[in-house]
Amino acid sequence: MDYKSIYENVKVGEVFYDHPLKDYTTFGIGGKADVLVKPTSEDELRNILKINHKFAIKTTVIGRGSNLLISDKGIRGTVIVLADNYSNITVEGEVLSALAGTSLNEAALCAIENHLSGMEEISGIPGSVGGAVAMNAGAYGGEIKDICILVKAFDFEGNEYEFTNSDMHFSYRHSKIFEQDLIVSSASFKLKAGNYDEIIEKYQDFTNRRISKQPLDRKSAGSTFKRPVGSYASKLIDECGLRGYRVGECQVSEKHCGFIINVDKATCTDMLSFIEEVSRIVSEKTGFVLEREVKLIGEI
Ligand SMILES: Cc1cc2nc3c(=O)[nH]c(=O)nc-3n(C[C@H](O)[C@H](O)[C@H](O)COP(=O)(O)OP(=O)(O)OC[C@H]3O[C@@H](n4cnc5c(N)ncnc54)[C@H](O)[C@@H]3O)c2cc1C
Repeated sequence: MDYKSIYENVKVGEVFYDHPLKDYTTFGIGGKADVLVKPTSEDELRNILKINHKFAIKTTVIGRGSNLLISDKGIRGTVIVLADNYSNITVEGEVLSALAGTSLNEAALCAIENHLSGMEEISGIPGSVGGAVAMNAGAYGGEIKDICILVKAFDFEGNEYEFTNSDMHFSYRHSKIFEQDLIVSSASFKLKAGNYDEIIEKYQDFTNRRISKQPLDRKSAGSTFKRPVGSYASKLIDECGLRGYRVGECQVSEKHCGFIINVDKATCTDMLSFIEEVSRIVSEKTGFVLEREVKLIGEI
């Protein structure tokens, strides 16, 4: 496919060809995208979707890559990145709205500056607003579904939709976005006016808990596995004696057993087989089946 001539005269944002993806993930793993596009507005996003639909170009959307395992062969077609390039926050009364690429932490800090409470629990999740909405991300008892009141989304033909909270089918690390193959363009959150000192204290408490318990300086995608009903993945992995367990470049974190880390140069193939092995050992020793939370995308 002659991508260059297709994208040449259309306003879609920055375009890169045959572009490495590993630096777009917190795992630091992944092959190349045929095309990588960074739209900066809804118009540019709509333009890419419409042109890709017209030319039947396979399209993949990623946010800040903090829950992703990208295959070594990379991703065919076009990868749309919605991160810093697609970022903006507005606040009206108790409602904070943000474009999908906005960092969740920046949104939470903006809420605090406006003396609004409700995002402190999820503030340390290193993803985008769009990725967090799609995943119904959550931490310390708070979840996106508790505060999200409106989601603006596109389908892969460039049609636009608006969804209220109940439309979104939010459940544990899941939403309508995955059911119907949609793209979050922006989201609005209903927060609560509060006392600045109390809000910032809560925020700092959650930040400190994360720093003390999670290997934030290592390459990972956070919790590798979903929480199994009746237990915790990290507890089960620890009980199986796997704390610090390492095969080649993949390792169960010493600091938090729920995190599997890329020591430095792991491939996607290495990581997948390591994840499978950890899961197999846990299943054999405890009977609990660990399901991968990290999303695998690309050509296998
Ligand atoms: C150190 C660390 C700590 C973490 N802690 C937590 C935690 O406490 N709680 C938690 O829930 N998660 C946690 N995570 C995982 C991750 O940060 C979340 O899942 C986050 O919501 C993913 O957002 P993202 O923008 O990085 O999405 P990506 O990783 O880029 O994508 C994840 C999935 O969402 C889709 N997606 C991304 N953006 C969009 C969009 N705009 N529209 C449609 N689909 C989209 C992608 O296609 C993919 O399927 C952690 C990760 C790390 C590295």
